[in-house]
Amino acid sequence: MAARSISTSLIELARGWPQAAIAVESEETPAPTDLSGRLSFGVAAISELAARDDVTVVNAVVGAAGLRYSLATLEAGNRLGLANKESMVAAGALVQRVATASGAELIPIDSEHSALHQCLAGEPRSSIASLILTASGGPFRGRSKADLTDVTPAEALDHPTWKMGGRITIDSATLVNKGLEVIEAHHLFGIEASRIKVVVHPQSIVHSTVQFVDGAMKAHIGHPDMRVPIQYALTYPDRATNPGDPFSLAGLTLTFEEPDRTTFPGLDLAYEVLSRGQSAPAAYNAADEVAVAAFLEGRIRFGDIVPVIERTVGACDPSPVDSFEDVVAADRAARLTARREIDTIDRPNGGVG
Ligand code: MG
Repeated sequence: MAARSISTSLIELARGWPQAAIAVESEETPAPTDLSGRLSFGVAAISELAARDDVTVVNAVVGAAGLRYSLATLEAGNRLGLANKESMVAAGALVQRVATASGAELIPIDSEHSALHQCLAGEPRSSIASLILTASGGPFRGRSKADLTDVTPAEALDHPTWKMGGRITIDSATLVNKGLEVIEAHHLFGIEASRIKVVVHPQSIVHSTVQFVDGAMKAHIGHPDMRVPIQYALTYPDRATNPGDPFSLAGLTLTFEEPDRTTFPGLDLAYEVLSRGQSAPAAYNAADEVAVAAFLEGRIRFGDIVPVIERTVGACDPSPVDSFEDVVAADRAARLTARREIDTIDRPNGGVG
């Protein structure tokens, strides 16, 4: 197991799995003495764990920082269960090239993409008409743009159906998460953006659907429970019993609606970024990471997040992404640009908190 730093939950897991080797990115936290013999530190130590013989790696790093571990896993020919969507967004073509070269399997864990993977099993590419990603719509579904300018981090963090980390919850509130997922789906399944659609489905029961050329549609249906896609990535092509409650259709009301592209312009921006290509998706992601952090720190308003991303993407000319170093360079340039954009914004609350 690997983590950024030593936390109480990591210590608890480590004690529960006495055989597990543990790699920690940061060397700043003191380690409990009973674990010290199994601990290694640093980025290289985590990459080494990911490259061990015949392991399945679940990459759940948040942000573009997860790319190096996706590449280390795939270069070693190991199966990658990918919960780090930024790997595909920032470097989808590179990740696929590395996976193809080593023959490694890449199984998505993002719930929508796991659903698509399951709907597509056994289906030839030529029978796919479109991929339809479902979106919960986030906490601000039905609100207007003007209404959302000044919502607080606490309001934006209150997601109606999924319990997730801070960054992805804010991304769900802006629909940038769905934009990232459109880019991710494009690279995972090799389907052009014009055939990847988004529909808002507030109940989060249908996790995504595939439309086929004969008009039939397959949907993946179940509880919004991340244990299901995580387990699928571990057991594929087999299935195993899951400890969750059995799912029942009786009594359910499922609704679907078009996304509000005016209130949530971050979604259309993802399509624009895909058509710009090269490093543009990496810039979209990096600018979002910076803007969301600034929003959570109270430095910009909710309504500033997507304009910061848009201006950053506009200011960064797309460049080729052929190596890890290319991605790092594009990511760094976009972060600098986004920070400059943020510095030009009048801070809410006079800059306090
Ligand atoms: Mg998702």
